[in-house]
Amino acid sequence: MRDYDVVVVGAGGAGLRTAIESARDPSIRVAVVSKVYPTRSHTGAAQGGLNAALGNADPSDSPEAHAFDTIKGSDFLADQDAVYFMCQQAPEVVYELDRWGVPFSRLPDGRIAQRPFGGASFPRTVFSADRTGHVLLHTLFEQALARENIDFFNEFFLLDLLHDGQRVKGVVLYDIKNGEVITLRAKAVVLATGGFARIYWQRSTNAIGNTGDGVAVAFRNGIPLKDIEFIQFHPTGLSKTGILLSEACRGEGGYLINKLGERFMQRYAPAKMELAPRDMVSRAIEYEIREGRGFGEGTSAYVLLDLRHLGEAKIKERLPQVRQLAIDFEGVDPVYDPVPIRPTAHYCMGGIHIENYKTSSTPLEGLYAVGECACVSVHGANRLGGNSLIELLVFGKFAGISAREYAKQVDFLPITQGELRKGEEYIEKLFKREGTEKLADIRRRMGEITWEKVGIFRDEKSLSSAYEELSELLERWERIPVVDKSRIFNTNLIELLELRNMLELARAVAFCALHRRESRGGHYREDFPERDDDNFLKHSLVWQDGDRLRLEYKEVRITHHQPAERKY
Ligand SMILES: Cc1cc2nc3c(=O)[nH]c(=O)nc-3n(C[C@H](O)[C@H](O)[C@H](O)COP(=O)(O)OP(=O)(O)OC[C@H]3O[C@@H](n4cnc5c(N)ncnc54)[C@H](O)[C@@H]3O)c2cc1C
Repeated sequence: MRDYDVVVVGAGGAGLRTAIESARDPSIRVAVVSKVYPTRSHTGAAQGGLNAALGNADPSDSPEAHAFDTIKGSDFLADQDAVYFMCQQAPEVVYELDRWGVPFSRLPDGRIAQRPFGGASFPRTVFSADRTGHVLLHTLFEQALARENIDFFNEFFLLDLLHDGQRVKGVVLYDIKNGEVITLRAKAVVLATGGFARIYWQRSTNAIGNTGDGVAVAFRNGIPLKDIEFIQFHPTGLSKTGILLSEACRGEGGYLINKLGERFMQRYAPAKMELAPRDMVSRAIEYEIREGRGFGEGTSAYVLLDLRHLGEAKIKERLPQVRQLAIDFEGVDPVYDPVPIRPTAHYCMGGIHIENYKTSSTPLEGLYAVGECACVSVHGANRLGGNSLIELLVFGKFAGISAREYAKQVDFLPITQGELRKGEEYIEKLFKREGTEKLADIRRRMGEITWEKVGIFRDEKSLSSAYEELSELLERWERIPVVDKSRIFNTNLIELLELRNMLELARAVAFCALHRRESRGGHYREDFPERDDDNFLKHSLVWQDGDRLRLEYKEVRITHHQPAERKY
């Protein structure tokens, strides 16, 4: 067992930003845990950019405008005080990154460039071509490496949290490299384990590892999840694979075209067109396909993203990665041909319930959560593109301060021999398990259920059948044996652990979606197509009690803007 003042689980943008802030006091010892090498975290895949009202491209922009766009985009489900806080802090954390060495794209006069993005009333998105997440993650990693009081636990897998019911006291980890189970005792623990859009296994923009492990571990330890029914489907996934083509494609002026050659967004959002928010554009594409104005059929149907009019020079300068992805994975060069696209699961608006946005604290004392695994809530029912990366940085900074200051005030709690043994006993049990179920079959079935029944369009029947079937899959999960008996880099075991986490979360998503009998943001019920503020202008909170799920609702904090119809 080793002791750390602050343990951060996750080395994506959220975890690294938090660790850097906690480590500002050299007397605080910080551990950063990651199941993949830090620079392989999903943050590195972010393309388009991050939002901050710097006013460089248009001086009329302001943090207030950013906040309003975010609240409207959220379909009024975001907590408005938290949104204002994020938008006001945003410019400062972007300048911090600039000073740390992030190579942002520039205006001719040297200031940081800003591009238009969906749902934003000004060009506000700061970027580095279309590799923003990559440069951001590498810069944060360098900054973290430079701090001597941060230790990295790379390729360690979070198995469980230790706590006494009131306060957190450590984490249990599995060392993927050699199969050892270790315990880190901690005064404060920060979960920054990212999202779980891989529950849509076959069609997702997410890294294979975005399986919601931290969210599921918190859930199993009695911590409620908030607004988990809200999943974002990104409009422009490559047709064959679901791999993302950034919103920057539309930000830079790309068109969406149907089989008749129409820019069909005219029908759905005549003012904003392709730059309407993602939930609306995704539904619009699916309507076009349903009504026979798409190309292809069934699961291989698609519409086209046309970038040709931007010209070769601009595509190569501003969208080099997009071009390469289209060439490599779809066999189409956007300089010469329009690219087949279709919506794909992208982002989880919900997550671990945060009680206080200024500290990122959860209901368990000493436990914090930040980034995509957390629900602050600033995205409500639909996140605007570019608002996740800024969320990581702003709330990572403040979570880092809270964890550090908390750790200075408390002592370590004792950990019993039984607690030290629990993780190893669980792993041994898994290795001994017998059964004939196959991991790949259950995972594939999970992906079919989520996509077909908990997808862009939902209704009572589809959701209740999804809930039943996912519960059955969870039972079948108990009968999947670990075929590979080695302790060295056992990906079979890791995938088994990840699948349990995904199944538990997928079932909770279906459960909360079933009970939200309205349509709002990313959650669209064909049987309740209207937003219902009288009954559902509130956050859902779900608990897992043994095998049962329990749901409650919580008021939304409306401090600045009264809910209004969302038109673009
Ligand atoms: C393709 C793509 C493009 C995107 N583009 C943009 C964009 O342009 N702008 C924007 O604002 N947002 C974008 N997003 C969203 C945004 O990138 C993510 O929401 C954000 O990066 C999540 O950061 P994070 O730090 O919370 O998690 P991640 O970056 O996913 O990191 C999670 C970390 O947790 C660790 N971890 C997970 N489980 C375990 C475990 N069991 N044990 C130990 N460690 C664990 C992982 O190893 C990893 O280090 C994009 C997302 C995708 C998928």
